[in-house]
Amino acid sequence: MGTAEKSTVHSMVVTLASMISLLTLCPPFVILLWYTMVHADGSIALSWEYFKQHGFQGLKTIWPLPSLTAWKIIFSYGFFEAVLQLALPGKRVEGPISPNGNIPVYKANGMQAYVVTLVTYLSLWWFGIFNPAIVYDHLGEIYSALIVGSFVFCILLHIKGYLVPSSTDSGSSGNLIIDFYWGMELYPRIGKSFDIKVFTNCRFGMMSWAVLSLTYCIKQYEEIGHVSDSMLVNTILMLVYVSKFFWWESGYWNTMDIAHDRAGFYICWGCLVWVPSVYTSPGMYLVNHPVNLGLSLALSILAAGLLCIYINYDCDWQRQHFRKTNGRCSIWGKTPSKILASYQTTKGETKTSLLLTSGWWGLARHFHYVPEILASFFWTAPALFSHCLPYFYVVYLTILLTDRAKRDDDRCSTKYGKYWKMYCQRVPYRIVPGVY
Ligand code: NDP
Repeated sequence: MGTAEKSTVHSMVVTLASMISLLTLCPPFVILLWYTMVHADGSIALSWEYFKQHGFQGLKTIWPLPSLTAWKIIFSYGFFEAVLQLALPGKRVEGPISPNGNIPVYKANGMQAYVVTLVTYLSLWWFGIFNPAIVYDHLGEIYSALIVGSFVFCILLHIKGYLVPSSTDSGSSGNLIIDFYWGMELYPRIGKSFDIKVFTNCRFGMMSWAVLSLTYCIKQYEEIGHVSDSMLVNTILMLVYVSKFFWWESGYWNTMDIAHDRAGFYICWGCLVWVPSVYTSPGMYLVNHPVNLGLSLALSILAAGLLCIYINYDCDWQRQHFRKTNGRCSIWGKTPSKILASYQTTKGETKTSLLLTSGWWGLARHFHYVPEILASFFWTAPALFSHCLPYFYVVYLTILLTDRAKRDDDRCSTKYGKYWKMYCQRVPYRIVPGVY
């Protein structure tokens, strides 16, 4: 066997091993995280002690079964979001042209769905119809049901990809595990207009982030009669972040998650289970750890977090505004510097894209990840530093985005060839200017 062949086989083995590890380890991790936050004082040491004593049987004991209440909550929420996605009015928006030359069309009604969801949720609580604290009380069962339900969902999506793909942007890699992990279809739909990735990523996943942040706040209020300043700072920052997301949702449809990553376990299971559990975990921790920060510390953390969210938004906005206006705009008060990069579609047609090389995009090729990571640090910082588990999301996000920056660079390098090289010469750093 030649060296090149050996390295391909080796990297295939590593790829499959890492996919199988994630497929099998992520579900117990979600349950462990919930258990430690809610029942073990947020302390890894306490959980570790428990597992040292009880071993694998201990995991079986703490793993809650999906209850009827959990299924009812999940289905009511999912159904409500699906109805809003279909029924609320919104502008017709075209997504970016796909590798096979298709242009997906969306209805931009994310902000309306977000407002309706939060107003409905708060009204149900206010008028005594449904107490969100119930969601917190059944959180373990809900995650357990989501783990199972989302696996089934991904299997159905996989079968759909094989049998009835919605567009020509689909296909098999020839390996079942890779197909299941990365997905078969880029834009799977039910009928013509119900976009499955918009549902899983935006209306279920991102929306659950806001809904659960409010849930944690309400639960703390019901437990101790007030909401601590740490919980308030955490909730405000998370809500501002999610509001920014829905404000810019049609921009999100141009990003890697939607335009490049197919609908499989990675994206769909991630958005249906990982986002509601891991992304919301700093708030989950604060429910039974009502830290009192004091006004000046609370306001300082809040201001720093808001600034990071704003910068992250501005980075995304610059890129999209620049592309939308074909570079005929002003970036930081100047005409933007750019590279006109040509590439070939899979059909062999030659197309061009503009690469912005000034503004935030002139500092580093993925500078926008810096404020994204810092914002997550600032909405976790209200938990202070007695436990490290609340910072899991910050660490995870740093690893995710570092890997994502590399994946994106590799993809862009293949797509744009010498033009990407030119961009890398002009903007040599990948994420942190002067460092990496
Ligand atoms: P984007 O998809 O927005 O940006 C990368 C793409 O933009 C590239 O694939 C390329 O696409 C194009 N591009 C690259 N360089 C340039 C340039 N200089 N000028 C113009 N276009 C360029 O990145 P992400 O999807 O990673 O991020 C979007 C947002 O989502 C960010 O705010 C990020 O922080 C956030 N995010 C949050 C995550 C979380 O879990 N919290 C995870 C991932 C992202 P093309 O092929 O069109 O040229």
